[in-house]
Amino acid sequence: MKISRLFEQKKAVFSFEVFPPKPTAELSAVQETIAALAALRPDYISVTCSAGGSGNARTAQIAQLVKQNGIEPLAHVTCLHATAESADATLRELDGLGVENVLALRGDRIEGAAESRDFAHASDLVRFIRRGGYGFDVAAACYPEGHPECAGLPEDIRNLKRKVDEGVSHLNSQLFFDNEDFYRFLDLLAAADIGVPVQAGIMPLVKKSHVDRIISLSGAKIPAAVSRLIARFYDKPDSLMEAGIAYATGQIIDLLSAGVRGVHVYVMNNAYVARRIAESVAPVLREINGEKA
Ligand code: FAD
Repeated sequence: MKISRLFEQKKAVFSFEVFPPKPTAELSAVQETIAALAALRPDYISVTCSAGGSGNARTAQIAQLVKQNGIEPLAHVTCLHATAESADATLRELDGLGVENVLALRGDRIEGAAESRDFAHASDLVRFIRRGGYGFDVAAACYPEGHPECAGLPEDIRNLKRKVDEGVSHLNSQLFFDNEDFYRFLDLLAAADIGVPVQAGIMPLVKKSHVDRIISLSGAKIPAAVSRLIARFYDKPDSLMEAGIAYATGQIIDLLSAGVRGVHVYVMNNAYVARRIAESVAPVLREINGEKA
């Protein structure tokens, strides 16, 4: 099913993101995780890909696995280190597996790797997919606090508008920890006449390694409540796990109460975290979407 249909049918869409195992690892490493996530009945599961494109075959395999488990996959496709030919091969492979939705991304720069002569921005890939007549629904990324490379949020939103106008059907946001940043961002999108549904990206901070990585890489602002939680529980794995789940759940409940069109949870392949959050927010989602238990 096309994800745009889900947005037509539901007031709020709820989904997870997973990443493929390393090319050298057995596929079985994630089979159990995908089955456990699928049992939680998210509206869809997105599957990341490496910016270099070398892991794209794995993305296709995992997307297929998601589909075999009865859940709609959204396959990520990056373009900064791709050619028109390699992008076409990736898209044809996904299409051949029955994948109907892709997330078109530029990807992060890889030190020393040659950059594409065919694609400079994600908007180029969106145009390529739309003009190529592949028939996918095309989602794209957005950044409530602005993309780190951009001079400021207003310029980033002008670039986002160009991307959306190439034929994006919904946006998935970068993770953030302060919901007010997301609400302000939605107001700016409305002012810029960007009307596609936007899903809020939520990352539960449940492990020391996530804390280190997220703080150094995402550039997301850390509100006082999150820095207190980190300071108190950084070296206490059980408490950090519980506190991280509780904080993310609180963020999601507030977002759903505020009427956002969806929430996308970066579960880092952790089915336990996904289950705890999904179970807590399920009654709220059912209420919003008018569904029976
Ligand atoms: P773009 O939309 O091209 O934007 C990148 C920068 O270029 C921005 O600063 C933007 O303002 C600027 N820009 C855009 N268009 C123009 C223009 N016409 N002229 C001038 N400047 C312009 N990375 C991966 O490698 N694999 C993944 O699976 C992956 N999944 C992600 C999922 C989500 C939801 C998000 C938010 C990010 C993900 N990323 C992933 C990271 C992403 O690849 C990086 O953030 C990357 O730096 C930007 O990608 P983009 O598609 O947003 O790029």
